[in-house]
Amino acid sequence: SPASQAPPGTALELDRAHVFHSWSAQGSLQPLTIAGGLGCEVWDDTGRLYLDFSSQLVNINIGHQHPRVVAAIAEQAHLLTTIAPGHANLTRGRAAQLITERAPDGMDKVFFTNGGADANENAMRMARLHTGRSKILSAYRSYHGNTGSAVVATGDWRRIPNEFAHGHAHFFTPYLFRSDFWATTPEEECARALEHLARVVECEGPASIAAILLETVPGTAGVLTPPPGYLAGVREIADKHGILLILDEVMVGFGRTGHWFAFDAHDVRPDLVTFAKGVNSGYVPAGGVIIDAPVAATFDDRVFPGGLTYSGHPLAMAAIVGTLETMADEKIVENARAVGAEHIGPGLRALADAHPVIGEVRGSGVFWALELVADQETRAPIAPAVIGAVKQGCLDRGLLPFVAENRLHVVPPCVVTPAEVARALAVYDEVLTEVEAAL
Ligand code: PLP
Repeated sequence: SPASQAPPGTALELDRAHVFHSWSAQGSLQPLTIAGGLGCEVWDDTGRLYLDFSSQLVNINIGHQHPRVVAAIAEQAHLLTTIAPGHANLTRGRAAQLITERAPDGMDKVFFTNGGADANENAMRMARLHTGRSKILSAYRSYHGNTGSAVVATGDWRRIPNEFAHGHAHFFTPYLFRSDFWATTPEEECARALEHLARVVECEGPASIAAILLETVPGTAGVLTPPPGYLAGVREIADKHGILLILDEVMVGFGRTGHWFAFDAHDVRPDLVTFAKGVNSGYVPAGGVIIDAPVAATFDDRVFPGGLTYSGHPLAMAAIVGTLETMADEKIVENARAVGAEHIGPGLRALADAHPVIGEVRGSGVFWALELVADQETRAPIAPAVIGAVKQGCLDRGLLPFVAENRLHVVPPCVVTPAEVARALAVYDEVLTEVEAAL
C-alpha cells in the first residue's frame, strides 16, 4: 500500500500537518506512530516493536489482527459492504443473536450504534421515554462518552467544559482506597455508599429519575470493582422508585474482567446494557444497547425516536460475529480470567511488595490498576511528572502502557500469554525502580 511504501516519519509529518486530536492541546503533540500489529504487539514505522499493555483504548480484547476476524470482515466486504439500517440482514441478525445469547434471559433485543457514547446516549433516551422521567443519576468517578448526554453523565473532568445538557445529577460510588465515606472495610464502604445513593435519590426527587447509569466496574476512573452487594443494593434502590438501571459495559464487556459481561460476577440484573469496544475489538466501529423485554415492549406500538445511518453496519457486524465466535471457540474469556488470576494478579502483588510507590493493586482478568503514591501513609498520589516518567520509561523499554491520573492500568488483550505478562512485569519492575530512585 502507499502507506507501507512511505519513508519512516511520513505518518507523523502528515499527522502534525493535518490531524486534529482528541482531548489534547494540539500544539506540542508528538504521537507515537503505529504502523502494524499482531496479537499483543504493535510496531512503529521503523519496525520497532512494542508490547501493547494498553489494548489501545482498552478495546483490542482479541488482540491485533486476529486472522479469523480479519477474514470475516474481508468476506463481508466482498459480499455487501453497506446497507441502510432499515433492512434485515443476516450478519446483523447473527451479531444480535450472539450478543443477546450472552445476556440475561429476556434481554433479547439490540439497538446498534457507532460506538460507546451513542450507546449510552440511546440507553438514556430509552429510559427517559420508558419512564416518562427526565433525570439520570451517574457516578462522579465515571466516563460514559463524548456526546450530548453521555459526556454530561460522565463524572470526570471531561464533563465540566461540556455541560450543556440538563437533567443529570452525580453521586459517589465505592472506592475504599480513597473512601468518601470514612470507611475502613469493604462492608462499611458498601453500606455507606448505598446510604449515600438513597439520600441522593430522595433529594433529587425519585419521581423525576429515569435511570441510574453506572459502569459495572469504573474503568478509566481506576478499575474500581464494586464491593459484594453494592450493585444489588443499587438495583434495590432503583426498584423501590421505578428507576431503571443501565450498566455501561463499554470497557468491561466481552472478556475484559474475565467474564463475558462484568456484571456476571455480581448479583444484579440491569434493564439496559451498553457495549462497544470489546464486542468486536474495535476492528470496525460498533456499539449498542441490549434491551430488556419491558423496555423493548414500550416501543412495540410507539415509535422509537432514534437512529443512525450506520446502525448495524455489515462490516462492523461481521467483525462482531467473527470476534464472538472466535472468543468462544478459542476460550479467550477463560484465558483472560486464568492469566489474570494466576499471573497478572500475583505478579503485580509481588511488585507491590517490592515497590513502596505502589499504594494498591486492583483488578481481575486483564483489567488491573496500580495506584501509585508518593507516600504509603497519606496515600498522596504521585505527581503528574512522575506518571509521565513511568509512561516514558515503559515506552523506552518497548511497552505501550495505559496511564490515567496517578495510575498505571495493566490492560493487555485477553489473548495475552504468561510469557508476555512476565515481559511486562520485568519492564514495570525496572521502570518503578528507576522512578523510585528519582523520588
Ligand atoms: N463508556 C465507557 C465505560 C468507556 O470507557 C468509553 C470509552 O472509553 C465510552 C463509554 C465511550 O465509548 P466511545 O469512545 O466508543 O464513544
